[in-house]
Amino acid sequence: MSRPIVATIDTSALRHNLAVARQAAPHSRLWSVVKANAYGHGIDRVWQSFSDTDGFALLNLEEAILLRERGWKKPILLLEGFFHADELPILDRYRLTTSVHSNWQIQALAKAKLSAPLDIYLKMNSGMNRLGFQPEQVNHAWHKLRGLENVGEMTLMAHFAEAETSQGITEPMKRIDHAAEGLDCPRSLANSAATLWHRETHYHWVRPGIILYGASPSGKWQDVASSGLQPAMTLNSELIAVQTLKGGDGVGYGARYRAAGEQRIGVVACGYADGYPRHAPNGTPVWVDGVRTQVVGAVSMDMITVDLTPCPQAGIGSQVELWGNNVKIDEVAEAAGTVGYELMCALAPRVPVQVS
Ligand SMILES: *Cc1c(COP(=O)(O)O)cnc(C)c1O
Repeated sequence: MSRPIVATIDTSALRHNLAVARQAAPHSRLWSVVKANAYGHGIDRVWQSFSDTDGFALLNLEEAILLRERGWKKPILLLEGFFHADELPILDRYRLTTSVHSNWQIQALAKAKLSAPLDIYLKMNSGMNRLGFQPEQVNHAWHKLRGLENVGEMTLMAHFAEAETSQGITEPMKRIDHAAEGLDCPRSLANSAATLWHRETHYHWVRPGIILYGASPSGKWQDVASSGLQPAMTLNSELIAVQTLKGGDGVGYGARYRAAGEQRIGVVACGYADGYPRHAPNGTPVWVDGVRTQVVGAVSMDMITVDLTPCPQAGIGSQVELWGNNVKIDEVAEAAGTVGYELMCALAPRVPVQVS
């Protein structure tokens, strides 16, 4: 190994987080959301840790096919459905459950030649205004689909724009109830936030993503600190140099940080080209040689600089945790004005990944 940066995926944390999600919604079946290459963790690395799940939800055909080729026989849900009608034979061949959010998809299903019916998730727009049928169109779309030979089991699906608060789900739940009136349909509504915090949304299938990887759907670690979730991804590196600044000396591009007096600074082999957020300001927490300290100076492509004042024993080769159990990915994300989701997904291909 050359450069000391490495990401570690903890498979026991993944298994544990799935159990936490199950406990939160004990009466529902559970889609493990593994879109975006399992939130940056690597679908091929993690799927077996989730083998206790009822199904996998994702949106790339390539990822769905990979799971089938690995031998996964249970359901796979395409969260955004098919993008073009010519994908339907592939959905047929790999037996993929598809979301249906637009009229053109109903027409395509009507025309397709399939070997057997496909299960579908009728997607309604409950207020997010991205994908789905308006509440008043749901009944009509439902009956059209129900009349198609190519359609098997049907579930009503919606997605919350703001499931962190109870006000955030009140209005969408009203719209969903209204749309489902008179339909005998299973429902799948809950993302991670709703799975953890809104029992009344659970129904037949929940769809947690972020909590399976041990981060908070609200972006604030305190919100899940007592839920027992365990961070699945740790990003580690080492100090590759140490500088001693004098009062007034700057560090890094633009001298965004200046020492007030003499101060030891550590240089870490990790930068934005590894996926560390370039916007992380002075003060972003980082763990160096067993001690919590902070980023000082601008994040550059390949390095960051950290304050060694709280860890005078640290030197070249000292271990650094950018995020993991000691510094939560949500804390780094919050400091940088983003969410743990983005940091996980942005882990760069050049970072070696090990599975533990
Ligand atoms: C991403 C996604 C989820 C999971 O969201 P989390 O906030 O990660 O739990 C659930 N449903 C749909 C439709 C999604 O796109």
